[in-house]
Amino acid sequence: MCKDVVENIMDYIDKELDMETLRELEKHTGECPECKAFVDTYRRMLDVTGKLKERPSVTPEIRNRLKTLLKSKIDPC
Ligand SMILES: [Zn+2]
Repeated sequence: MCKDVVENIMDYIDKELDMETLRELEKHTGECPECKAFVDTYRRMLDVTGKLKERPSVTPEIRNRLKTLLKSKIDPC
């Protein structure tokens, strides 16, 4: 996974991205299958959580799990 987008994706997980950064991230995931795969995984987890709780929300547990996963996937170029 690309080191330079990991922070953006973490902000995305926390939903604290401004529109400009979000567009950059979505542009990157359109070009980078590896990062897109992670964001897709994240969205699937959100869907499952949303069904269970009737409302999409990211629990601290899911957030921490995703961040640990992200860190483990950082590939120093
Ligand atoms: Zn990437």
